[in-house]
Amino acid sequence: MLEWNRNGGIARVNGLLDEILPSNRFYQQRLKVSGPCRSAEDFLAVPMLMKKELVADALAHPPYGTNLTYPLERYVRYHQTSGTTGTPLRVLDTAETWDWWGRCWVEVLRSAGVTAKDRLFFAFSFAPSIGFWSAYHGASMLGCLCIPAGGTSSSQRLRMILDTGATVLLCTPSYALHLAEVSRREGINLRDLQVRITIHAGEPGASIPGTRARIQETWNALVIDHAGATEVGAYGLGCLRGRGVHVNEEEFIAEVVRPGTCEPAAEGELGELVITNLGRGAWPVIRYRTGDLVRARRGLCECGSSYLLLDGGIVGRADEMITVRGMNVFPSALEDVIRSVADLAEYRIIVTKNGEMDELVVELEASRPQCNQVSQTIRHQMGIRVNVRPAAPGSLSCSDGKAGRIVDLRHAR
Ligand SMILES: [Zn+2]
Repeated sequence: MLEWNRNGGIARVNGLLDEILPSNRFYQQRLKVSGPCRSAEDFLAVPMLMKKELVADALAHPPYGTNLTYPLERYVRYHQTSGTTGTPLRVLDTAETWDWWGRCWVEVLRSAGVTAKDRLFFAFSFAPSIGFWSAYHGASMLGCLCIPAGGTSSSQRLRMILDTGATVLLCTPSYALHLAEVSRREGINLRDLQVRITIHAGEPGASIPGTRARIQETWNALVIDHAGATEVGAYGLGCLRGRGVHVNEEEFIAEVVRPGTCEPAAEGELGELVITNLGRGAWPVIRYRTGDLVRARRGLCECGSSYLLLDGGIVGRADEMITVRGMNVFPSALEDVIRSVADLAEYRIIVTKNGEMDELVVELEASRPQCNQVSQTIRHQMGIRVNVRPAAPGSLSCSDGKAGRIVDLRHAR
């Protein structure tokens, strides 16, 4: 599965090591390499890196930790991870590595068919998380007109999309559906807008068939999934045939391992994505365990890409897997069923523990008969019994960030 030497990987890895080892204290401690990487074996001898190690390093050396290759004054960009799973991690970029982020996004946009003639609308609050900041930089490098929409309401955003003739919408998948809902209330027909492509990140929805189809249908646009992370970079190129996300192997080395182990997963087997970024010497990660679960496939994709395919995109997070009566369930699989049943605005999945068993409750902004239908479909398609209950319209709010759709009470006291 590992094609670590693709597109000059070996030379790039050694270039990265030459850049970071003289001054990066984090990697000086971690890597006991005596010389350049000569083979896949040398590369695979580098220990995998977990987020908690970066967090521990930052706590021991606040506020930024020791994964800084250059003096602090060289850095120009600050971002932090959302912290939904613990302590926020602060990540810095220099002007050079920020341009590398931008170039990675140029690839994302180009592969989606975006050109300099496009007008890009960023329905995103420009907060400390990386979100679409790097996309904004990449889009301006490509020569697109970039329209920021932080601090505006959904109805103002719809009006701006209409007035500016925006052709590409960038937002989370759930926010695209939320905007569609608002447009119905405001009497704006999305088909009157000029949006021809929607690009999504932050949640797996754009590769979930049910959600993808609904966005495509409501926006009458090509739906493109993207995957990236603050610690790693913008590595995911959306498959034009909707099969998932391809890894930009010019800039990243991807490996997939069996969850909780360092053993490589077989082709198509569910495993954790491990990424090495090749162009971010100022704050590098080598063999970083992303916590994202994927099914990787090699070969020429029907979209024409020969980059590694993450089939179905990011299938779930290793820490989000729910076990109901011995069956492993991912919230993304539940979302697919929920979206395929009815034109539902919002839902929430609540996970609790009854003794040793995980229990699932789904709340829907829907009528009782719709809830019953969803419950039956989940039982029929996934073989699990789930309590589906109605919630009052508007009670499961949607922000433009990552939707807080999963309430995990298993570890609550
Ligand atoms: Zn493809």
